Amino acid sequence: MARLVDLHAHTTVSDGTLSPAELVRLAAQRGLVALAVTDHDHVGGLAEAAREGARLNVEIVPGIELSVTDPEAGELHLLGYLFDPAHAPLLARLDALREGRLARGARIVAALRAHGVEITLDEVLQGASGALGRPHVARVLVEKGRAASVQDAFDRWLADGRPAFVPKEKLSPQEGLALVHDAGGVCSLAHAVTVPAAKRGALVRKLAKLGLDAVEVQHSKHGEAERREMQALADELGLAVSGGSDYHGANKPAVELGSVRVEESVLAALKTRAARRRSPNARGS
Ligand code: AMP
Ligand code: ZN
Ligand code: FE
Ligand code: FE
Repeated sequence: MARLVDLHAHTTVSDGTLSPAELVRLAAQRGLVALAVTDHDHVGGLAEAAREGARLNVEIVPGIELSVTDPEAGELHLLGYLFDPAHAPLLARLDALREGRLARGARIVAALRAHGVEITLDEVLQGASGALGRPHVARVLVEKGRAASVQDAFDRWLADGRPAFVPKEKLSPQEGLALVHDAGGVCSLAHAVTVPAAKRGALVRKLAKLGLDAVEVQHSKHGEAERREMQALADELGLAVSGGSDYHGANKPAVELGSVRVEESVLAALKTRAARRRSPNARGS
């Protein structure tokens, strides 16, 4: 039987609904041999996940998901892997990004109130133990009967162009890559399907020149066409690939952990890249 992994999943440390330990237990139930915990702007779930992983024999890969803005392609997400989660400059920058998320949360709440929605920042923060995100606001809107589901809350209020949309502070692609590389890790471009199709190729070629290590091929939002497109770009540019479900628990009920097929060899290739980055003159890994 193939040994399968999931390299993209969120916990309550950002906008997932399972705790890190619960997520690892689910990964074990699904028969996964490795799991990357990739919370937005936060590495605070990795230690708990690693402890549970050691108990259940699931390898936990240090991960992070960063939002960056490209002048041509707009918002895109970078997945960082296999870095040192205690790297002080990384932790300091993540702290600042989470402060920015808090200030943005207050602005989203103010915009909702201006539209007659009775909601407070405290109510939102009660359900957010780590990096605050729009899904936390969405859940309160559902509880208050102002939206039918998290998705409906985005469609009515929170998505780009809707009445309570507030942009997030974002890094440049160069800054995002440097944060992960300086901490000893590698970077993959997440779910390229969210980048306008006409801009994808140019974006990946540009990021590759800036040091991007991989592209996410398997993802719950990627159809066969996107998987082929990303694999072809990886082959053309000599990039590695990554893959994962982007599991968020009840915040994205249609997406199951381990629902995209990613073999352990994908993780092994990322490890080889990370080792080569750390000691460029060494042969192999
Ligand atoms: P934030 O980091 O606060 O901008 O929130 C990003 C999270 O919200 C990600 O997990 C996305 O999956 C989710 N999200 C972003 N846009 C939408 C949308 N239009 N509909 C549903 N979920 C979304
Ligand atoms: Zn998320
Ligand atoms: Fe993302
Ligand atoms: Fe994600």
